[in-house]
Amino acid sequence: MKLILLGAPGAGKGTVAKMLTAIDGSVQISTGDILRGAVAAGTDLGKEAEGYMKRGDLVPDSLIMGIMEKRLQDNDCKKGFLLDGFPRTIPQAEALTELLKKLGITLDMAVSIDVPRDVILDRLCTRRTCANGDCQAIYNVKSNPPKKEGICDKCGSPVVQREDETETAISHRLETYNEKTAPLIGFYAKTGLLKTVTGTSSDAVVAAIKSSLGI
Ligand code: ADP
Ligand code: ZN
Repeated sequence: MKLILLGAPGAGKGTVAKMLTAIDGSVQISTGDILRGAVAAGTDLGKEAEGYMKRGDLVPDSLIMGIMEKRLQDNDCKKGFLLDGFPRTIPQAEALTELLKKLGITLDMAVSIDVPRDVILDRLCTRRTCANGDCQAIYNVKSNPPKKEGICDKCGSPVVQREDETETAISHRLETYNEKTAPLIGFYAKTGLLKTVTGTSSDAVVAAIKSSLGI
């Protein structure tokens, strides 16, 4: 499957993407994970992106499009991909349309995961992430804590609160989402690709996606 996952920070895009990869071997492409990996590795990309990310601002479109143009041509994308956190602005969506045309790729759907704001806020404040750039497993102090407090079940690295998950950065990210990313819902509605799924359970979101894909 070739899907775009749209939704506010904390809507569950990453969790849903991981569940979908298990169905048909499509790969999850998270620009946030790629950028955090680059920051952790101290690459040029990471150095450029770090300041924007800490503040909860978007990284410039040109940097993101450079990443995606390369990533979508990797061999593992042939089976399909789940775009998680990209596109994030109308210019990125327009550039993606052009890029896919150039690469001869057709999208199946753009899924908008719609979750109430109070649930989002609660999730973001309680979310914790594995600090290992190659792992980035996600936990929740209330609903899904690691087995050993502060230690990743998968790789043993420290599990931390992301620097952009302080209260100020979170509210700034939500504002940025409303202003820059929410308009993509209208953009994909016009192309006929939009499917809106309302609900707080990732299982229900995955089931709805499967049924609209007929799988
Ligand atoms: P979330 O969806 O929880 O906000 P992400 O992991 O998707 O988190 O993104 C974290 C940060 O990485 C964003 O706040 C932003 O600075 C940057 N980022 C990720 N994807 C993009 C993108 N497509 N365009 C611009 N910035 C991005
Ligand atoms: Zn880990």
